Amino acid sequence: QAKEAGRNTLSFFDPALQSRLQARARLEADLRQALPRDEFRLHYQVQVNAAGETVGAEALLRWQHPERGEVLPGTFIPMAEETRLILPIGDWVLKTACAQLAAWAGDPSTAALTVSVNVSPRQFREADFVEHVMKVLERTGAPADRLELEATESLLLEARDDARDKMLRLKERGVIFSLDDFGTGYSSLSYLKRLPLTQLKIDRTFVHDLLEDDTSAAIVASTIALSDSLQLDIIAEGVEGVAQRDWLIEHGCLTFQGYLFGRPAAIESLDLNGTPYGAAMMPPLKSEAASL
Ligand code: C2E
Ligand code: MG
Ligand code: MG
Ligand code: MG
Repeated sequence: QAKEAGRNTLSFFDPALQSRLQARARLEADLRQALPRDEFRLHYQVQVNAAGETVGAEALLRWQHPERGEVLPGTFIPMAEETRLILPIGDWVLKTACAQLAAWAGDPSTAALTVSVNVSPRQFREADFVEHVMKVLERTGAPADRLELEATESLLLEARDDARDKMLRLKERGVIFSLDDFGTGYSSLSYLKRLPLTQLKIDRTFVHDLLEDDTSAAIVASTIALSDSLQLDIIAEGVEGVAQRDWLIEHGCLTFQGYLFGRPAAIESLDLNGTPYGAAMMPPLKSEAASL
């Protein structure tokens, strides 16, 4: 009843809200066309270790809107989730990222890199999610153990046993799971223990404040300690400054992602050589080996 009244108020008495609803409807109509019109792009942001070596990259979706220009996921992912458009869009993301992963796997200088893909709860909830991921891996020839799926805490709260089961089946094949935006959700420690996670990803809001705000610093330090006792890998996102990185290293977090190391960029302009990654993977020169 209240909903009915609200609807009447919207459509007849609130022109500002009405125009917002129209803009929303327009965006939704555009979003439906975005995939057939080939308007999505994947950007990649490097993940780096304490030695400055690139260890992987996160795939981040961009929408090249014909009039608005680049639209960031924060604007359209929630809408894509509500409309289930996230299913075909997420499918495109997974295929595109796995094709990239397969290309990297074929080159010794990039073969050890991982690709992280963000997965919405909606995708994860699909009954055939596991089979679908396996099929994409097969068709693209991407190595399963270099694919990292990033899920947020909200995913783990709903349908826990189902989520756990799907994660276990994918993990069996080598797929890695990372818990994104850690600290912003509501996950209890018992979920962390039950789920087959490999990595926690510290949310960038805590990293951002860590040098100025004792509470954020305490949260980051305890997350690192937690990952240590649960034997999970840990990565910090949103690292923008050297002082933040050094604080993290001092406190035991040795993998980072953030503007300090590179912004999300198209694959052609991704800087994998700016780091000594390739060099670290090279076998010793023949002359060096001979003198050993
Ligand atoms: P996320 O997975 O936590 O991704 C990290 C976000 O932090 C990205 O925003 C990235 O551009 C931004 N970022 C990276 N380094 C820095 C830094 O040093 N400083 C600051 N201030 N920000 C930094 P972006 O690309 O706008 O993506 C926002 C969110 O949208 C992502 O958060 C993820 O939850 C979602 N998303 C992105 N791509 C996809 C996708 O393909 N599928 C799904 N389901 N969600 C996606
Ligand atoms: Mg992510
Ligand atoms: Mg994140
Ligand atoms: Mg985040």
